[in-house]
Amino acid sequence: MASDKTLSFVIPVYNEEAAVGPFLDGMADVLGQIEARGYRVELLFVDDGSRDGTLAALTELVARDRRVRVLEFSRNFGKEAALTAGLDAARGDALIPIDVDLQDPPQVILQLIDAWEQGYEVVLGHRTDRASDSLLKRASARWFYRVVNAVADTPVPENVGDFRLIDRCVADALKRLPERRRFMKGLFAWVGFRTAVVDYQRAPRIAGTTKFSGWKLWNLALEGITSFSTAPLRLWTYLGAAVALLAFFYALYIVFRVLWLGVDLPGYASLLVAVLFMGGVQLIGIGVLGEYLGRVYTEVKQRPTYIVRREHGGQ
Ligand code: UDP
Ligand code: MG
Repeated sequence: MASDKTLSFVIPVYNEEAAVGPFLDGMADVLGQIEARGYRVELLFVDDGSRDGTLAALTELVARDRRVRVLEFSRNFGKEAALTAGLDAARGDALIPIDVDLQDPPQVILQLIDAWEQGYEVVLGHRTDRASDSLLKRASARWFYRVVNAVADTPVPENVGDFRLIDRCVADALKRLPERRRFMKGLFAWVGFRTAVVDYQRAPRIAGTTKFSGWKLWNLALEGITSFSTAPLRLWTYLGAAVALLAFFYALYIVFRVLWLGVDLPGYASLLVAVLFMGGVQLIGIGVLGEYLGRVYTEVKQRPTYIVRREHGGQ
């Protein structure tokens, strides 16, 4: 099949010197098949401020392989920023974000392309088996999707990572979203388009270690919830109303008791409990408000999502 279309792989890398080489080796077979189908391939690495030999390994690839391009960030901006930069810079007719650790098996890419050729604009890689992830990660992921999909305006598909194929039109739509704090999974879901799903099993990492600690994942989860829903803000209206109503009935009850049964003084414990409870509730409420205010603050500053120091290759 002759085709002058280009497929861009967007590969965020952060301290992955041990994985870059094996990644290309592991992809070689599939890349060969893709090229045999008549596609051009672009491998766009986004070096997210690595502090090890990753950049050296990448620039060496650029010298050897014309398909390789590298965006070099000025510091670590995080995977979401790296993906955003990749989507902004990729030139392909279809874009495939993929991790450098080959946890997303290359063979699946062929299925993604098949679905794209059938006319789907988004082809999701759906993880059927997360056995290679820790128990804690699986459990937290399950809860995350449960919460997000309970409150978010656009559902985020469960067990779908950033590994997917998106058509050029989807990438262009994503570029039009102006927000600076980018929760890519949510943005991908928000833009919509005709979507197909391909199941796959998530493999273990080929080299190196995961870059996402529990704390980083927790923050990513908060980011996901607050960027796609204002339900946590609304919650306080209802909670406030409920507590006020309770307090009103409690007051009625006290008046009733004093009038009918006579005055009784004890009440220190109930007072303290009520004060502490309300204090806690108010602090949480302020915290949630602050979370959203903080988001507004970072958005109005209009700082760029990432800064590229240099671009290598792709001329
Ligand atoms: N990554 C990145 N910037 C970061 C953290 C991670 O570009 O700040 C990249 C990393 O190099 C890898 C991908 O994001 O290619 C996924 O990271 P990882 O495999 O550590 O995440 P996990 O698969 O454990 O969720
Ligand atoms: Mg990984």
